[in-house]
Amino acid sequence: MSRSLSLITPSGHLTLGNYLGALRPMAERQAASDCYYGVSDLHALTTRHDPDRLRVLTAEQQRLMVAAGLDRSTLFVQSRVTAHAELTYLLECVATTGELNRMIQFKEKGRDRPSTRCSLFTYPVLMAADILLYRPETVPVGDDQRQHVELARDVAQRFNATYGEVFTVPRVTTPPAGARVMDLAEPTRKMSGSSPEDHPGCLRLLDPPDVVRRKVARAVTDSDTGADAVRADREAKPGVTNLLDILTACGASAEGLHTYGALKAAVTDAVIAVLEPLQQRYADLDPAEVAAVFEAGEQRCREVTAPVLADVRRAMGL
Ligand code: ATP
Ligand code: MG
Repeated sequence: MSRSLSLITPSGHLTLGNYLGALRPMAERQAASDCYYGVSDLHALTTRHDPDRLRVLTAEQQRLMVAAGLDRSTLFVQSRVTAHAELTYLLECVATTGELNRMIQFKEKGRDRPSTRCSLFTYPVLMAADILLYRPETVPVGDDQRQHVELARDVAQRFNATYGEVFTVPRVTTPPAGARVMDLAEPTRKMSGSSPEDHPGCLRLLDPPDVVRRKVARAVTDSDTGADAVRADREAKPGVTNLLDILTACGASAEGLHTYGALKAAVTDAVIAVLEPLQQRYADLDPAEVAAVFEAGEQRCREVTAPVLADVRRAMGL
């Protein structure tokens, strides 16, 4: 059975985008793959963070992952499998500053700012370690992470050529374009978990129904009042198009919706219908049960990654 690996960073309360674009497809992949799913808390340290908030967000995300039905996978918190941090340092001795300087995300997020953390610069090396420790054959990623996985491949190839064949060089695959949920208030931007906590354009997985209703009601549309105003047109009508995409991704139909009011009412109902069972399972979960699922997963991760790390150390002369 092929191995599949995905990590989600606890940088904010998870959003509807995280569910439709990540958690739901992750749950579906469990049928065909041996899945390793992690909370990448180390990645959350690359930008300014609050320790207490990180603890809360990590616990919340662990519980949401179980509530989303990922308990047929090996679940783990990245920092609790110390092989990730250890391999990162060893791979920093393989990756080059030239390579990391070319990373588009670093150029956009932090380069040229003196307060930028070193870890933001080396983030792609941590990501390479996350991947290479599990020797997956393929890594499915969206476009924004493609360059980072290419780097992981380059580092693996260089390591193998320099120190001997240790790593499986994974292939990058692009999964069929999943739902890309845009911000309700700024529909040309992706709905992002790290938006300010009270940002009205961001639907959180634990938002109660009245909050969902309020946020959808305030969603940006446009001033089109034509009989065919409710139609998809990403360029000219990004807000309406996003609402239609959300409606479809939540399993509802846009048929017979002719006004923005009707569209928003349908989106509200569809989103609540998706979130309600998830929130119910979340509420019913015993925190001790969640902790046990992760502890077992972390133990399994330690067992799976130990031989890889041992091979790396030996090959490098440690
Ligand atoms: P940040 O803004 O801090 O990067 P994020 O919400 O984008 O946070 P990530 O940890 O980067 O979260 O992404 C976790 C997973 O959720 C990834 O698989 C990503 O593709 C998916 N995802 C995040 N936001 C969306 C979205 N708006 N639509 C679809 N998928 C999304
Ligand atoms: Mg992101």
